[in-house]
Parts: sequence; C-alpha cells; structure tokens
Amino acid sequence: MIPDYHPFNVNKAGHLEAGGVDVVELAETYGTPLYVYDVSIIRNNCRDFVRTFRELGVRAQVAYASKAFSTVAMLQVVNQEGMSLDVVSQGELYTALQAGFPVSKIHLHGNNKSLEELTMAIEHGIGCIVVDNFYEIELIERILQEKNKTVNVLMRVTPGIESNTHHYIMTGNEDSKFGFNLSNGQADQAFLRLRNNSSIQFKGLHSHIGSQLFETEGLLLAAELLFQKLDHWHIEYGFVPDVLNLGGGFGIRYTAEDEPLSYPSLVRELTSAVKEQAASIGIPTPEIWIEPGRAIAGNAGLTLYTVGSMKEIPGVRSYISVDGGMTDNLRPALYQAVYEGVLANKVSQPDAGSVAVAGKCCESGDMLIWDLPLPEVKPNDILAVFSTGAYGYSMANNYNRFPKPAVVFAENGTAQQVVKRETYHDLVKNDISYE
Ligand SMILES: *Cc1c(COP(=O)(O)O)cnc(C)c1O
Repeated sequence: MIPDYHPFNVNKAGHLEAGGVDVVELAETYGTPLYVYDVSIIRNNCRDFVRTFRELGVRAQVAYASKAFSTVAMLQVVNQEGMSLDVVSQGELYTALQAGFPVSKIHLHGNNKSLEELTMAIEHGIGCIVVDNFYEIELIERILQEKNKTVNVLMRVTPGIESNTHHYIMTGNEDSKFGFNLSNGQADQAFLRLRNNSSIQFKGLHSHIGSQLFETEGLLLAAELLFQKLDHWHIEYGFVPDVLNLGGGFGIRYTAEDEPLSYPSLVRELTSAVKEQAASIGIPTPEIWIEPGRAIAGNAGLTLYTVGSMKEIPGVRSYISVDGGMTDNLRPALYQAVYEGVLANKVSQPDAGSVAVAGKCCESGDMLIWDLPLPEVKPNDILAVFSTGAYGYSMANNYNRFPKPAVVFAENGTAQQVVKRETYHDLVKNDISYE
C-alpha cells in the first residue's frame, strides 16, 4: 500500500503511477535502477513558495538550491516556475547556463570558491555572490579590478544556531566552516571592507542554519540575530539592506515519523517576522530570499529497482537485494537516512512481512532500507523507493564501476528521458592506458 503522504497513485493494473505514467512500464523501457520524477509535484512545490510570496505582496526570490538535483531539464522546469537558483560550483553554474537559466537570477555559494569559479561567475554577470570568507573577498576584489566589473554581494554569517533534529541550540563557539562569525567582530570587519569597495554592491546578509528542518523556530531565531546586526549597522553607518536571505533546509516527509511544515504557512510566518523586525529597527522590509532544495525536488522523485537475489536468515531477517544501492542513493550509508517503498507491480497486494533491502555494492553498509513491509517478493519485482528526488542522483557515484542510472520526467500521462543511463564506455572514457 502507498502511505497517503507519498504523492503517487495506483493505476487500474495495480501498478504504481508517476505523472500519470505506469512506472513498471518505465522500468521495462528504460531499465533499472531508474530515477522517475512527477514534474507536476516539482511545479507544485515551487508554487507553494513563489505564489505565497506573491500573494503577500512582498519582494522575494525563491532560489532553488540546485545541489539537491541539478540537471538541464530540472533547471528548465524551476526556471519556468519563476524561481531563482543557487549554485555552489562551476559545474553547477555551467549546468545552469546550459539550461538557459537567466544568469541575473543565479546566486553563487561555497566556502572555498576558486579564482576560476569567481571569474566565470563575474564574467557571466552572476546575480549575486554570497561571500563566505576574507580570502574570497580578496579574490573578488582582484577580479573586479582586473576585469573592471561590478558585482552584487551578500555576506554569509554564522548566527550560532544549530538545528539538532527537533531542537535548536545556540552554539557559543559558532564552530562552522561556513560564513563570517556574527559576534566576534569578523562580520563587522567584512562589512566595512565590502562597503568600502565601489565595485561591490553589498546587498545584505545570508544565513542557512541546517537541513531537514521541521520547525520555524530556528529560522526565526536566526532572523532575529541578523536584524540585531543590521540594527547596529543602520545606526552606526546608516546601512539599509536590500536583501535578507534566510537560507533553505525545509524538511520533507521520508517516513511516517516526519512532519514537514506547510510551505505556504512557513512563507507567511517568515514574512511577517521579517516585516515586524524591519519595522522595529526603522528600515523598509528588505527583499526576502529563501533557498529550498530538498523541499522542491525530494518528494517528486522515486527510484525504481529490480529485485534479484533473496536470502532468509531464520530468526534474524529476510534480505532482498536490488540492482542499485549506495551508488544511486548514498544517504542511508552516509547518514542513516530512512526510506519507504512499495513493490510497483504489486501495489494493491497486502503486505506479507518485512524485508531488509540491500544494495549490490561490496559493502555491508550498502543497505537501502532495513525494515520494509512488502507483499510476497519475487525476483524481477520492481521496488519503488519514495522521496529520493533530492540528494539521490546528485550524490550518485560510480563505486564498483556501476554506471549512473537514467532519469525520466513524467507529467500529464507522458514520460520523457532527461538524463541517459551511463554506459560502460562512459566509465572508462577518461582512463588512459599505461605504456
Ligand atoms: C544545502 C543548502 C540549501 C538547501 O538545503 P535543503 O535542505 O536542500 O533545502 C540552501 N542554502 C544553502 C546555503 C545550502 O548550503
């Protein structure tokens, strides 16, 4: 059975459907493992954010954090939905340019941007660079002078809040590899330096406190701390920010235990907090930027696998093995992420017991799901794992020399391949024989 919080249906054949397309047929056509996205879910996720800001009548940018799932087709869809875009590398920027994403709506992140990355971004007229550290400021200053260019800049700061699953802790030492420290003078020093460079348009502050958040508490706390700093800069230097970027990290549902926020209410809550704080320090409401990644792509994607070998250890557990694993979904091995799934060809059949789903890599830790209730499983059944749309394909790798799977987009009853499956030739194309 499909838990009702996974936005997929069963068709008349008793098969799982995505975007009105039978995924068992997709598995036959394109092979497995296969990433399948229901594009209408991606669009709805974008609209939850974009539309709510529009309804509230506030200036805003909703930047899709493309690291969650970056391909040309995906970036085309989010562009159609009026989103901006976050990139954190030259490769992500290159993909965005290939997708025809308007460069003025692209923001560059990263804690170690190279001279080459910054140069490419500035030469293309990037919308904004989110500056992370003093070394980067130096590089940007050098490039702007050499190229005689200007650039918009936000400053990433560490507000000293950490999300600890369901709690937020204020960390005294603000121990993070990202951003300028808000309380020890570094942010002030960076502020003066950025403000003193006439080629740099310093627009405001950025913070991102964590991922898979289920509450607004931490975000509101961060906003408060940013406004304290802005109040100081306003009084001391007359600075009025154009932009306040509160980052991303909005949680999605992987399993029954997860209780994600409603994105429209999240937007309303953040907006009223920002408006209130701005008024309280006597500045106009800045343009509000947020950066959802997982919340846009996560629940729209699923991964299809073919079941192969099975083994029962009496009194312990039953294993089923599938034709993918940590190569196409690293998250269970990387941080014990938990997923749910169904047999796509037997969705309406009653569960017969629980199985453990193993990948096929040479690692005991290559387990996709430890405890999944399923109908009676047979070799060649198609297993669909839900909520793999974010940090699945984007973290895929070639361990054990598995080619990366294909990606299919389905919408309104039509499916289209948007990424080809890697071939064995792809695996050796950069290898050079040693003579
Ligand atoms: C990763 C990241 C995001 C997106 O995080 P999600 O959990 O996918 O929403 C947004 N902003 C920054 C700076 C990030 O590093």
